[in-house]
Amino acid sequence: MSGGRKKPFIVPIFIPNQGCPHRCVFCEQEKITAEQKGHVDGERVVRIIKTAIKSPRFDPALAEIAFYGGTFANLNYRTIEELLGAVSPFLKKGLFTGIRVSTRPDSLDTDKLALMKRRGVKTVELGVQSMNDDVLSQSERGHSAQESEKAVALLKNLGFQVGVQLMPGLPGDSHAIFLSTVEKVVMLQPHMVRLYPALVIKGTALGRMYEKGEYIPLGLPEAVEICAESSRKLEDAGIPVIRIGLMSSPTLLMEGQILAGPWHTAFGFLVRSRMYRKGIASQLPARGHLEKLGVRVRDRDVPLLRGYRNEGIQWISMVTGAEVAGVEGDPSLPPGRVEVIEK
Ligand code: SF4
Repeated sequence: MSGGRKKPFIVPIFIPNQGCPHRCVFCEQEKITAEQKGHVDGERVVRIIKTAIKSPRFDPALAEIAFYGGTFANLNYRTIEELLGAVSPFLKKGLFTGIRVSTRPDSLDTDKLALMKRRGVKTVELGVQSMNDDVLSQSERGHSAQESEKAVALLKNLGFQVGVQLMPGLPGDSHAIFLSTVEKVVMLQPHMVRLYPALVIKGTALGRMYEKGEYIPLGLPEAVEICAESSRKLEDAGIPVIRIGLMSSPTLLMEGQILAGPWHTAFGFLVRSRMYRKGIASQLPARGHLEKLGVRVRDRDVPLLRGYRNEGIQWISMVTGAEVAGVEGDPSLPPGRVEVIEK
């Protein structure tokens, strides 16, 4: 999250695949969210909220309710009213700052949007996935890039905060195609983006395509690179990237559930430290100038510099040809600055 803003404390209420007109090739919400299929009703919403507000980390100034894992705006009007109505008393007591929902770009209906607005929905996250129609069709999304464009514009006009979820590595996608998706999203200026590289999950159509050799997922280094380049472009355009990589759920992590794809428990950190390394490369001495060096960076940048299992230290050695004899944190240094000390 950019700008030093505190992260919201999100209370997720999963409605796995409820409201979805069909299954997209990559999707298996029950495994991703570890929720069983079944009707989520107002009573269940109240139970989840009552449990969440007992958490010691609960902070009404930061707390939001989120309906995730389905197509919220495709639920029927009465269901939307019931679910949001169950949240209303808690909103009125000032226990939450608002509600967010995730939905498909082709699911928006003005009456339901008006109801959502009245009932305290502040943020709508759209599963855009790609801005390339061929990728969308091969992934059986059932909507076009133009529908995503229209959806973002409509939601912004109605005063919602708009989040865009993107998925590099879908069938028909490539590095270049995904970067053009990102450029199109930059033009749309949503308020935030999430990046979820496509994974091959057991039981999905993508899993069957993979097993027949019809789909090759991204490798981990490739996915990290695409997400690093994309995040840089988005954040340089003032659009915060609030999540990179799927959250793990116990069901997703059960052996054999992820058949293939760029899964890593610290995926977001891999991307952030790669972005950091790209940003500091020009401040390092050229190869052959020093035999041994130390580096001093802002104290909060030390983990990013070190990277996952010290891969950042190995990278500095490779780039400079020098042994890295120490890393120091200095709170007075600005972010992204590196001071190199000859040893
Ligand atoms: S619309 Fe979203 S939740 Fe529904 S099947 Fe497709 S990806 Fe899954």
